[in-house]
Amino acid sequence: MKTKLLPTIALLGTGGTIASTAASNTALTDYTVTEGIDALLTAVPALAALANIQCEQVFNVDSRNITNTMLLKLANKVNRLLDDPAIDGAVITHGTDTLEETAYFLNLVVKSTKPVVLVGAMRPASALSADGPLNLYNAVLLAASPQAHGLGVLVTLNDSVHAAGLVSKVNTSHVQAFSSHEQGSLGQITHGRLQLFQKPYRAHTTNTVFQLQGIKKLPSVDIMYDHQSAGLHLYEAAIASGVQGIVIAGSGNGSLSPRAEKGVRLAKKHQIPCVRSSRTGSGMVTPSQNDARRGLIAALALNPQKARILLMLSLAHTSDRATIQSYFECY
Ligand code: ASP
Repeated sequence: MKTKLLPTIALLGTGGTIASTAASNTALTDYTVTEGIDALLTAVPALAALANIQCEQVFNVDSRNITNTMLLKLANKVNRLLDDPAIDGAVITHGTDTLEETAYFLNLVVKSTKPVVLVGAMRPASALSADGPLNLYNAVLLAASPQAHGLGVLVTLNDSVHAAGLVSKVNTSHVQAFSSHEQGSLGQITHGRLQLFQKPYRAHTTNTVFQLQGIKKLPSVDIMYDHQSAGLHLYEAAIASGVQGIVIAGSGNGSLSPRAEKGVRLAKKHQIPCVRSSRTGSGMVTPSQNDARRGLIAALALNPQKARILLMLSLAHTSDRATIQSYFECY
């Protein structure tokens, strides 16, 4: 039954470990997605005290299976739901492996100031000490909170609240698997209380130039992982297959090996922009005076997988290198 005084939260299921079960309660790997969003909701009766919840299964997959088409479907759905004055916010359950990519995509294309919170779990629903139920409780608490308005897309796991633009998965299996690096998390949820410490500074949601209207397909962008003795063949193959942009996970401050440099020259000949990002996992790739001449864009604080998301959206709007570089400066 709908309680008038409580906010209404759309709860969208997409799958992931939070919706998975394994053969025994001590098995923390080799699990499969088996649970629908209704089952996740039923497992946490305390949610009824936080919000009226409207559930929907958008898809139910491990997050490694998420495609650009699914991102577009999810983002269009979130925009439609948040346009409805009866909906106060959205929570999306998601696999943790690619959660940061979906969260950052939504952070750039959702056109609402209402809270959107992504949540996952590191342990399957069948595990001893599964982390999913409390993470889900915290996600609904966050989405139902007036303080979460206007902060862009948020991510919560293991009691921390992160901005979508800053957060990454940094551990393969620990419950504490997400970090916003030196930029820091936005806050914490402890004992059912939200404490926010800072606001995200970079532009998001209603303050970006990106609109999904009319976009049926996103430009294809590949990531090249650079290393000692790298070859040219991956660049040649990507260009031959019709790739529209390339992100290079370079060493250090976006340094490129000789063959990566050659790959960039080849890409420039085909008018394919290349972004220099870093494989280090933290820190900024700072713009260089030589970037413009070489047709390069510096990723600044974005890791390679987030740089790919921003380059796809940028290329759907413009092919101008300087304009794309300016997007990397502000988003
Ligand atoms: N395999 C999972 C995924 O869907 C990992 C997780 O959710 O923790 O990304």
